[in-house]
Amino acid sequence: MDVKERIAKLVKDLNKYSEEYYINDNPSISDVEYDSLLRELEMLETKYPEFVLPNSPTKRVGDNIKETKLAKVIYEKPMLSLANAFNEQEVREFDNRIVKEGFTPSYICELKIDGIASNAQYKKGLFMKGATRGNGYIGEDITANMKTIKSLPQTLKQNLDIEVRGEVYMSKDVFNRLNYERQVAGEEPFKNPRNAAGGSLRQLDSSITVQRQLDIFNYTVVDGYKYGMKSQSEALLFLQELGFSINPNYQYCHNIDEVIAYLNQWKEERKKLNYETDGVVIKVNDFAMQEEIGYTVKSPKWAIAYKFPAEEVETKLLDIIFTIGRTGNITPNAVLEPVMIAGSLVQRATLNNEDFVIERDIRIGDYVVVRKAGEIIPEVVKVNCNRRMPNLLPFKMIDKCPICHQELVREEDEAVHYCRNEKCEGRIIASLIYFASRTTMNIEGLGEKLIEDLYNRGYIKKITDIYRLEEHYDDLIKIEGLGEKSVTALLTAIADSKNNSLDKVITALGIRFVGGKVAKVLATNFASLTELMTADYHQLVTIKDIGPAIANSIVQYFSSNSDLIHELQSLGINPTVSKKQIENLIFAGMSIVLTGKLESLTRDEASKIIEDLGGIPTSSVSKKTAFVIAGSDAGSKKEKAVSLGIKIISEEEFLETIKR
Ligand code: NAD
Repeated sequence: MDVKERIAKLVKDLNKYSEEYYINDNPSISDVEYDSLLRELEMLETKYPEFVLPNSPTKRVGDNIKETKLAKVIYEKPMLSLANAFNEQEVREFDNRIVKEGFTPSYICELKIDGIASNAQYKKGLFMKGATRGNGYIGEDITANMKTIKSLPQTLKQNLDIEVRGEVYMSKDVFNRLNYERQVAGEEPFKNPRNAAGGSLRQLDSSITVQRQLDIFNYTVVDGYKYGMKSQSEALLFLQELGFSINPNYQYCHNIDEVIAYLNQWKEERKKLNYETDGVVIKVNDFAMQEEIGYTVKSPKWAIAYKFPAEEVETKLLDIIFTIGRTGNITPNAVLEPVMIAGSLVQRATLNNEDFVIERDIRIGDYVVVRKAGEIIPEVVKVNCNRRMPNLLPFKMIDKCPICHQELVREEDEAVHYCRNEKCEGRIIASLIYFASRTTMNIEGLGEKLIEDLYNRGYIKKITDIYRLEEHYDDLIKIEGLGEKSVTALLTAIADSKNNSLDKVITALGIRFVGGKVAKVLATNFASLTELMTADYHQLVTIKDIGPAIANSIVQYFSSNSDLIHELQSLGINPTVSKKQIENLIFAGMSIVLTGKLESLTRDEASKIIEDLGGIPTSSVSKKTAFVIAGSDAGSKKEKAVSLGIKIISEEEFLETIKR
């Protein structure tokens, strides 16, 4: 499907979902799926403005009002939507945009209540008219139903003409009770409290609405300055004084760092509340500043809705493709309908291996649950069989390498298929990518795409070619997307990588079974690549932590790659460590485990200190562990250390030791 077709499909699908959501209160996809598709559409529209369609949902608030039996209400001040931020970085970018315009904003953070936006008009302190947001300019009259909401005052404490806005919601308790009753009565349960609130609020018969026990939190005074207020914080207090229910968990934040702290605090704490929240609304506090910052057609530029990250999300599996790693390992990968998980747009997820896919019966076309926790690569957890269409074919593993087409091998006791062709271009490119990556030689700017491109153009065929790229400077600057500036930066990063430590260089070579930890062990036992290269099997297996498989793999690697290593050395990649230097390090060769929460250091800082002093930070406790550093709330690792009789030290003792 080309870009134009994709945009048209997204607009069509999103408009259908909006109608289901806003008009029928019966969505067929989750908010996360909707937000992800909308984000994809926004990105495509920014890149290809020539294909933007007039009926795009990015240009509109809510959904077009359909002919319903509810009367229409026209707004003088439109009820806008909010722009979204899906992670901390996007919140900081929002702040940067405002700061760049010369403002020094302070913010009000309010929980984003997952309900239905509503408008309430009062005349001389009496509630006169209530309406939905509709398309932002025309809403639907729901006065009778809003009168059933006990937390919405019918009479204000001051005799004012005023218009206020807020979120009508259904508490979790009421929702659970209502759904229980519906199930007992054989009726279909509501999908979530928001849909239940929406359906109840837009009822034609308010005797039904009254049974639904809706609630409201108000947060906006239309034209607040008319009543003498200068900021959102004053508006919230004023609303409270008039008798409105405001959400008590709002916070004044002096700057964006305080905003971020608030977001992190409420990510977890919100789960304890008796109503659903789907994010935090961050608003510039000062009204005058708000007006100066202004609006887009759809939302104010002075506010943003940060959406809490979902860590498990359902999306459609569009295809399964196969990638090859540097050792020839073949991995099936899920190509997904893009979806927002833990703050980023995910389009690919690993399916690990043949058994993983077959055990879960994952089929192309299925709706799958995808998980991403922390930094880990997204993974498909399971299939939602309720959404499976008929005729989807069971998965079948490929039997030939997708790159060189050689027959794949799967050893009896292994789950992974391998391409054993040493000359397979897929493997070579994967090993080049690994060599330059962040955890090995850390060559900034030399990412996957560029390596593949430079390989295909013939500039990099093996790792040593990376250090000869400067000879092709004149050609490189002509490549689309590179140019003088980026080529110069790339060459500087390549030259800098020559200063990497011995263990990093050993890791980068990509020897089978030799990852970062084993490389550290080797670098504390051999002073240079030459020493390591000339070590024989017997010498290697005598080293603690080096077993027969690793030793064999090392010997084999160097016997067939000695020319490459000499070439690397002649190009200036020849790190050395003097034995004296190593032996003098206090943690030389020790496996050290960190557990619990440290007070004065982060985990990364503590690990770095251990490494700098010759130690190997290790994640699990075994007989080989030299000692365990236990912070507060240390759990099973500490217990295991006790049971194995391994020394345990506190954070203070650790800090004392490293001072010496
Ligand atoms: P929004 O929900 O992202 O943000 C704007 C709304 O936030 C306001 O109109 C207001 O109702 C609400 N809000 C809650 N607390 C607030 C507070 N303290 N201050 C200010 N506003 C507050 O925008 P939207 O345009 O209402 O809806 C878009 C969202 O609706 C999407 O992000 C999506 O999650 C959902 N949606 C889902 C589907 C679906 O099919 N599942 C379809 C359409 C829209």
